[in-house]
Order: sequence, then C-alpha cells, then structure tokens
Amino acid sequence: MNATTTYKLLDGKRCGDALKEAIAKEAAELKAQRGRAPHLAAVLVGNDGASKTYVEAKVKACEKVGFRSTLIRLPETITEDDLLARVEGLNNDPGLDGFIVQLPLPAHIDADRVIQAIDPRKDVDGFHPMNVGNMVLGLPGFLPATPSGICELLKYYHIETAGKRCVVLGRSNIVGTPMSILLSRNAYPGNCTVTLAHSRTKDLTRITREADILIVAIGKPQFVTADMVKEGAVVVDVGIHRIPDASRKSGFRLVGDVAFAGVAPKCEAISPVPGGVGPMTITSLLLNTLKAAKG
Ligand code: NAP
Repeated sequence: MNATTTYKLLDGKRCGDALKEAIAKEAAELKAQRGRAPHLAAVLVGNDGASKTYVEAKVKACEKVGFRSTLIRLPETITEDDLLARVEGLNNDPGLDGFIVQLPLPAHIDADRVIQAIDPRKDVDGFHPMNVGNMVLGLPGFLPATPSGICELLKYYHIETAGKRCVVLGRSNIVGTPMSILLSRNAYPGNCTVTLAHSRTKDLTRITREADILIVAIGKPQFVTADMVKEGAVVVDVGIHRIPDASRKSGFRLVGDVAFAGVAPKCEAISPVPGGVGPMTITSLLLNTLKAAKG
C-alpha cells in the first residue's frame, strides 16, 4: 500500500479564529457607525443537553467578536402558536439583526412551519425556503452555516476543488443537500462533479473510493473507514458523537463520522473532530449575522 503518511489537518479552530478576528474588526466599525453592535438572538426550546451546549457556544462566540447576543429559553411545553408568536416578535424587533431557532424542536411543533415564519432577512441559519432557493440559484442570501463553514475551511487551506470528483455522504436539508449544491456551483470552492449519497445508495464503498473530496455527514460514529477512502483524498468530517471512554475523566470522548486514526494517513487533508467543522459552523453564523447587520 502506498499510504500518504503526512496529511494536512483542516483545523477549524485556527481558521475560525482568523475569520473571527476580521469579524470583530468589522463589528467594531459598524458599532462606531450606527451606535450599536450586531445583535443575534438564539431561541432554545426545552432542555436538550446537546442543543443547550450548541446554543451556549454560539452566544459565547458572539461575545468574543463584540456582538450583542440574547438567549431566549422557552419551555418544552410551549405550543406551536406561542412559539410562532415569539418568532413574529423577533421578526419585528428593530434592535435585532438576526436570530436562530435551535433545532431539533419538540415533536409537537412543526419545525418547517417555524422556519417558514422567520423573516428571511433575519434568517441567519439560512434555513428559510427563500434563502435555500437563493442559494440554489446563486443569488444573494444567507447560506446555511455548516456547508458554508466547510467552504470557508476549504478556502483557508487552499484546497483545489475545480474538476474534482466530490462525494457528499448524507442528504440532510441542513448539511448534505446544500453542501452538494455549493460544491457544484461555478465558483470557488465549487466546480466539483458531485455525487450525493444516502441510505439507499448501492455499493457505497465503490462510490466513496472515487472521491477526491469526501464530505461525510451521516450521523454514525466512525462509519467511514480507511477502505472507503481513496489515497490522497480530502476528507471533511461533519459528524459529532460522544462515545464512552473509560480512560477519560469525563467518561466519554468526541468522535466524528470518520474513523480518523485509520483514515487520516491515506489523506492529503482531513478535518478533525472536535476542532474541525464545529467551530466553522459557529463562525459562519457570525458571518451571516454581520451580513444581516450590514443590511
Ligand atoms: P441526518 O439528518 O441524520 O442525516 C443523515 C444522512 O445520512 C441521511 O441523508 C441518511 O440517509 C444518511 N445515512 C444514514 N445512514 C446511512 C448509511 N448507512 N449509508 C448511507 N447514508 C446513510 O444528519 P445531519 O443533520 O446532516 O448530521 C450529520 C452529522 O453531522 C450528525 O452527527 C450531526 O450531529 C452532525 N452535525 C454537525 C454539525 C457541526 O457543526 N459540526 C452541524 C450539523 C450536523 P437518508 O436520507 O436516506 O435517511
């Protein structure tokens, strides 16, 4: 086997920190111009531990770049109508530039209805159908945070994408599907020939082995193993999972959808978990909020 032993680590913390420095500078300028900092609100419904961690990280990131942030905690039992009324209130709040409603929502609430109720001009998660449509057509709008964070990461590390064979594993509305669209665009990063794979894909290993760039958003811990990856590929791991680890004080460790130790030596470049896509998702949210604030 002709294994690549030195791979480039696509360090999302490093890339995110560099972008945050530029965001903080622009936020300060904007504050000086219009008398208030960009303002992001995050709505958290219920007590889901992972959602709470994600939202708190987003609020903390706002503080780091000089944004104002508001965390709105709502009870698990809130009705859909009451949540829609809160969304309407945020749409009409002139002191707020953008907001997110953290997903998933409790089962009794129709998340699509809630997303569609958000004013597209304040939809900094980029989930509203109008923003999704604009992305597909290449028109201005808010790009979904995780795929656009991955684009920023590829840019930061000067990963060549034009003409490359790209496989996106997973077709969720928030990651896989928009990722496949962004990498198909006539832009940089983009101009890839993209295959979007999912649970009904046949002969998955044959397909993933063809990828020069493999984006994995499947939601299954360490699913992608070395035999599924081409020598010299660029691998981006979106997954994040806690798995038990008795050697850690916490009793667990974080892993991605890729079995990193086996896959990394085959790669030209690979993103780690943690410290890869996660920090980039948050950075993209800040970029979208800055864009909303600039109007
Ligand atoms: P999701 O909604 O659970 O979708 C998973 C996708 O993988 C689906 O399209 C599914 O196919 C496909 N899939 C599942 N099992 C498969 C199999 N055995 N073979 C082929 N395809 C299979 O996932 P998501 O929301 O995109 O999230 C994916 C992962 O990324 C999760 O671990 C999530 O926690 C993580 N995530 C991380 C960030 C971050 O910022 N780091 C952001 C978002 C998500 P079907 O459509 O056919 O069911």
